[in-house]
Amino acid sequence: MIGQKQIHPSAVGDAIAPAYYSVGSQQECSVTLSHYGDMFLSKVVRSLIKPARGLLASSEPNLKRSYAAVAEAKAVLEHELDTIRAAGTWKAERIITSKQGPLINVEGSRDSIMNFCANNYLGLSSHPEVVQAGIDALKTHGAGLSSVRFICGTQDLHKNLEQKLAEFHEREDCILYASCFDANAGLFEVLLGPDDAVLSDELNHASIIDGIRLCRAKRLRYKHMDLKDLEEKLREAQSSRMRLVVTDGVFSMDGDVAPLRGICDLAEQYGAMVFIDECHATGFLGPRGRGTDELLGVMDRVQIVNSTLGKALGGAAGGYTVGPKPLIDLLRQRSRPYLFSNALPPPVVGCATRAVELLLASNEIAQSMTAKTMRFRNKMTQAGFTISGSSHPICPVMLGDARLASLMADDMLKHGIYVTGFSYPVVPKGKARIRVQISAAHTDSDIDRCLDAFIQTGRKHGVIS
Ligand code: PLP
Repeated sequence: MIGQKQIHPSAVGDAIAPAYYSVGSQQECSVTLSHYGDMFLSKVVRSLIKPARGLLASSEPNLKRSYAAVAEAKAVLEHELDTIRAAGTWKAERIITSKQGPLINVEGSRDSIMNFCANNYLGLSSHPEVVQAGIDALKTHGAGLSSVRFICGTQDLHKNLEQKLAEFHEREDCILYASCFDANAGLFEVLLGPDDAVLSDELNHASIIDGIRLCRAKRLRYKHMDLKDLEEKLREAQSSRMRLVVTDGVFSMDGDVAPLRGICDLAEQYGAMVFIDECHATGFLGPRGRGTDELLGVMDRVQIVNSTLGKALGGAAGGYTVGPKPLIDLLRQRSRPYLFSNALPPPVVGCATRAVELLLASNEIAQSMTAKTMRFRNKMTQAGFTISGSSHPICPVMLGDARLASLMADDMLKHGIYVTGFSYPVVPKGKARIRVQISAAHTDSDIDRCLDAFIQTGRKHGVIS
């Protein structure tokens, strides 16, 4: 009870539902649910817990009201949790007790399991040189900075990594963030104002969607990888001061590569800049692993790149923007996740720096990952499975049915192979799949073991004959 007004838990669900269902894309739906759900819940909880702040001065009735408020908040939260369970979208977390790698130990299992669902594309997460660089940085530069960058949180290590990343991407300058989520959250608001327009692929990553929400530019969402629709939206945006086309370089659910050449052609024709999120490309796509822009020969036609240190580049944490120097300078002055969040810890910077150095020196690791990816894709296709995409290490084994994807993933684990099933609302209805991710650290025999497990479980469930 709050005063005399009772909040019924079901009313909370109803309040969230319209916001959830009113948006278009599958991906945005899931994001919007948690975004609005979280905002709404935290508002409710804050209003309920407010009386507790005055406890010292409060009388006994006030104390009772305060306890009742907390109990009510718990009921609201429990209801929300039950809704997630009932929808079958509960995300359980498996507890790993070893380093990240192709073989991991998990709590509750005596045997190691073979991991095919990390973004550890190049196997650098536990590469000895990367780990050693982290240890060295910890020793020389300490555990952390206890400060944001502009107060007293910038070390030579940060400047060195920024310079190496700019060199790697062949862009003028670079700025580090605590994550790529932050890099995406901090970019658009700084770059674009109400007189500008942003044109965004409907299946862009959640962090791009959230970042765009924070900016005041005109927002135009084009159909997934649809150049015709993008052109229409670009025409619509001609009266704006600046236009920015925004796309994932690689979309993580399908491993599909954005049609960057066509996007750049249109951007040039209609006077727009191009931004790409390269989280699933940096380090391994393209002849030297520079990313989607290198793969498609448009490095000099894409102006801004955001990417992560938390996947192929050692897997620790961190994100960054590379692009024109004036933009990076302005981000250092204005970008909120940069200004108001702690500097990246030295061991994390040390690990990422070594990872980038390894890639600047040679593309051998990336090539070995590509060969393993093709081994898996070809053999799975020969066995009768449908694998979405063409050459990316994200290999979605398409199954269609959500229950089948979940049952098969469980059965794969019985064979010692860890893969994850994805279904609605993470992917569109009827497009459930098991997403397999290949790493350079997998051996050919690891790949073949995974394949054998798929053949056995696929036969058991009637997916292949
Ligand atoms: N962008 C894309 C396409 C991603 O897949 C991810 C991570 O899942 C992010 C951004 C966020 O990266 P980070 O983990 O560095 O915050």
